[in-house]
Amino acid sequence: MEITENVHLIPNIIANPYLIIDPDGLTLIDAGLPGSHKKILGYISGLGHSASDLKRIIITHADMDHVGGLSAIKKACSARVYASAIESDAMSKGVPSRKIKSRNSLRRLLMGVASLIMKARPIPADEIIKEGQILPVLGGLHVLETAGHTPGHISLFSPSTGILFTGDSIISHHEELSRSLPQLTWDEANADEAARKQAALGAHIVCPGHGPVIKEAINKFPKI
Ligand SMILES: [Zn+2]
Repeated sequence: MEITENVHLIPNIIANPYLIIDPDGLTLIDAGLPGSHKKILGYISGLGHSASDLKRIIITHADMDHVGGLSAIKKACSARVYASAIESDAMSKGVPSRKIKSRNSLRRLLMGVASLIMKARPIPADEIIKEGQILPVLGGLHVLETAGHTPGHISLFSPSTGILFTGDSIISHHEELSRSLPQLTWDEANADEAARKQAALGAHIVCPGHGPVIKEAINKFPKI
């Protein structure tokens, strides 16, 4: 599903993966749950590209619904994987980068069981990225440290297009943007700061990890 020229949301995958088409190749942001590789690679071929056109895979954080499809996609192409140091360390062990602090014991138990059943294959990043770096994607994709949902979470902002990829630091529901769900948040104060920092960017389009893409986003950020 094309969001704007050369930026696509690959549909029907948990969590939302985004595909960016640049003249030098394709960039994928996040890789969905385990098994998502078929839909992702199918979408790429549906656009008339081959898996070998995929040059970069950027991971916002190491939760299984963002890295589950990564190892199978990586096998099909020679893309380099980018993530923060903290999230890459967790990815190399196939675990999330933080423990769920939910006060709801049933929810904690269910999350624990889910993480045992659906373990992501260990795969570290090829390149560690951090705040201030600008990747050669979509006219310059700025790396933002947006810890809170997880300790090493990153978001990505393209000033020339006004598109912000928030991972799970900001999610959407209908036409509204909200901060990372409290029961899945590693640190509340950091999550608030990450939301404020992103609200101040002047982004026009928000591409979240969960929920629909939000256009005319400028006044829809959570007021924190
Ligand atoms: Zn997450």
